Amino acid sequence: MGNHTEAKLFINGEWKARAGAPIINPADETELGIVPFATENDLAAAVEAAEIGFKTWSHTSPSRRSEIIRDAAARIRANIEIIARDMTLEQGKPLNEARNEVRRSCQVLEWDAEEGRRTYGRVIPAEQGLHNSVKHLPIGPVAAFTPWNYPLSSVARKVGGALAAGCSVVLKASEETPAAAVHLVNAFAEAGLPEGVLNLVFGNPSQISRFFIAHRVIRMLAFTGSVPVGKSLAAQAGEFMKPCLMELGGHSPVIVCDDVDPREAGIKSALAKASNAGQICTAPTRWFVAASHFEEFADQMATTARSVRIGNGLDPETQMGPLANARRIAAMQDLISDAVKKGADVLSGGERAANKGYYWPLTVLANVPDDARIMYEEPFGPVALVNPVSSVAEAVSKANSLEFGLAGYALTHSADNIAYLTDHLEVGNFAINQFVSSLPETPFGGMKDSGYGREGGTEGLLNYTITRSISHKTR
Ligand code: NAD
Repeated sequence: MGNHTEAKLFINGEWKARAGAPIINPADETELGIVPFATENDLAAAVEAAEIGFKTWSHTSPSRRSEIIRDAAARIRANIEIIARDMTLEQGKPLNEARNEVRRSCQVLEWDAEEGRRTYGRVIPAEQGLHNSVKHLPIGPVAAFTPWNYPLSSVARKVGGALAAGCSVVLKASEETPAAAVHLVNAFAEAGLPEGVLNLVFGNPSQISRFFIAHRVIRMLAFTGSVPVGKSLAAQAGEFMKPCLMELGGHSPVIVCDDVDPREAGIKSALAKASNAGQICTAPTRWFVAASHFEEFADQMATTARSVRIGNGLDPETQMGPLANARRIAAMQDLISDAVKKGADVLSGGERAANKGYYWPLTVLANVPDDARIMYEEPFGPVALVNPVSSVAEAVSKANSLEFGLAGYALTHSADNIAYLTDHLEVGNFAINQFVSSLPETPFGGMKDSGYGREGGTEGLLNYTITRSISHKTR
């Protein structure tokens, strides 16, 4: 496969090359290759293929579907080094993070493969001669849209859930990080997935989403990305009465209580923020720290942040790679300078790290006023905002003050605090004493502007089904 995997469209079982746009390596701003742009005919062909693919796949036995999905996962695992390297080249994350993403994606696919065999319905007791039952049936061809921050796992979540439920898919993966989707689709093709069941396109995002949403064949929309784009797509889907799964942005609070060691909490927090250079929808962003612990915590967090080695993700010494694109650098400059102007203290980082490559150091801002834009706009980059609070109740009230509601975190061992936070934090995912908020077997998703629907867990698969109630009167 050479140095970097060539991106192609995959329509009705065939790879197709097209003219397109350059793919940029964020570590050095060089061109890696070209992402092909689908024409309107390609989009129509992809949907037609998905219509036929749905007929085949929805009537394939769940155990055969499971076998194919597991086979694809095994092929992805076998290719881990090539896939991880492609992701690092296109997106910037350190190679080890990319490898972990490959492993997690395989676990997601494997879990979905098994769960697809358990989309049980139920029998509802009724009067003599009447048989009432409920079935969960695949909803139909799904249009899926995935972002650049997790080029493989965001695809695995959508494709795994949809295929396991018996749906076909037209996937528009990110134009900026196409290789991972190409690898995943290739693994499914090699595993024997029938033609037309999984189709891959790239191109102009708004043109593609408009085309798919309006098309009579597409029965559902699954999107991961920003709140404004998600709202626009959901509104379009509403016109055609098509259900959506929306995984949108976040602005996650971390509540640091006074029963934990502030130094340990500071180290843990800095390392969590460095993950994927903060470009995660569930990234911890606003720290609300017990006032008694604030100084020590902030001091340690900044010290650890300064020690994080940034560099090219291919270098094994690198702990944090470049940001994925120039838009993130512009956003960091914009949001951080606004916060500083409004009175925030810069404890670490704060300025672009190099002129070549999209490097931004791990930045800790303290005492950030509520009216700084970064306190309510998702930074989606390596910036931590740390502020003192006088009680857990105050932390919760500040945490809930935004329209986001994706993930929330707490560092505490107090059962009372945990019970209170579990009941009061407005989030879809709450993680305590660690920063992992989703696993293949647990449902992941937001509330409020962060979206609706769930990926992973039993709930994740049910998104891709309709519930049919059957009432049968016997003679
Ligand atoms: P953006 O709003 O332009 O795009 C976000 C994603 O949506 C991208 O993957 C893009 O390709 C896709 N997209 C854009 N317009 C679309 C359309 N009309 N139809 C279908 N897909 C469309 O922002 P961006 O600069 O690429 O990313 C930055 C912002 O996006 C971040 O601030 C963050 O809020 C959000 N984001 C969230 C996630 C997540 O995991 N929830 C992932 C990536 C980006």
